[in-house]
Amino acid sequence: MLISLVVPSYNEEEAMPLFYQEASRVAAEMKKSHGTDFEFIFVDDGSRDGTLRVARELHDRDPRVRYVSFSRNFGKESAIYAGLKAAKGDYVATLDADLQDPPALLPQMLDVLLTGDYDCAATRRTTRKGEPPVRSWFARKFYQIINRLSDTEIVDGARDYRLMSRKMVDAVLSMAEYNRFSKGIFSWVGFKTKWFDYENIERVAGQTKWNFWGLFKYSIEGIVGFSTAPLIIAAGAGVIFCLAAFVGILFVVVRALAFGDPTSGWPSMVCIMLLCSGVQLFCLGIVGEYLAKTYLEVKHRPIYIERETEADRDARRSR
Ligand code: UDP
Ligand code: MG
Repeated sequence: MLISLVVPSYNEEEAMPLFYQEASRVAAEMKKSHGTDFEFIFVDDGSRDGTLRVARELHDRDPRVRYVSFSRNFGKESAIYAGLKAAKGDYVATLDADLQDPPALLPQMLDVLLTGDYDCAATRRTTRKGEPPVRSWFARKFYQIINRLSDTEIVDGARDYRLMSRKMVDAVLSMAEYNRFSKGIFSWVGFKTKWFDYENIERVAGQTKWNFWGLFKYSIEGIVGFSTAPLIIAAGAGVIFCLAAFVGILFVVVRALAFGDPTSGWPSMVCIMLLCSGVQLFCLGIVGEYLAKTYLEVKHRPIYIERETEADRDARRSR
């Protein structure tokens, strides 16, 4: 039985050796307790520091370490996809390089999958300790909004740390969409998921890659990727404008008939403008619905571009 650990790494030269140390410790323990073999797949997401160098060194020292290095920064979602694609394991885990996702949980997670009742062991954090309060507040609001707008359940506090069966990994890989929102994709494919709770742990080294603007864009991506409700809201606004215009028109006509029209022109003008812009918004909403669905699909851009893998390195050295 082989377990693959997929580790997206962007500027993680300091954290990676620590991660490797801890993961190999857990791997050695699980070799004894479960008889499992491991492979570690570091996905260097176009890092600017020595992440690739560290990955090469680790691979030279330990052939269980594999890596994929991107031609530029494609984002964590792309890195997860590339790692899942490279993984050969019967079970595949995705976890961060900064040890915020403790590998020590893996034995418990594997036990749950081995019972055969679950296809996925996922984690969520119960606290957001060590995070700016503003960020926590916006995060909570985001989960409220997306769960109201989307049919796909996005669990509050869910981390991208999970151990999946081969079947589930293949299902995730079959969703080759360009705009990837992993939290949504993992939930969309279904399967039986067992949740593990743990308290937030601060990263061991290096710095977080997320700023507020990055998280904001990420949340918009999640909403657009897993819900078309905003377009319906746009169309709804159009309908409301139309209704308001009709009421206005009735009012103006009746008033003109009954009392004459002293300031001739502007009230009817306002009504016509309201009506026209209402109809326009309404139609735009409908067109947008189709456009959004098509736009995201037709481009067929690759999700990531790899520059080097451990296979390239081995080939170069054997030459
Ligand atoms: N990461 C990545 N590409 C990016 C940003 C982040 O592969 O563009 C990786 C990063 O190296 C780490 C994980 O995603 O392993 C989570 O990032 P981080 O710890 O900065 O996020 P946080 O835990 O603060 O939410
Ligand atoms: Mg982190």
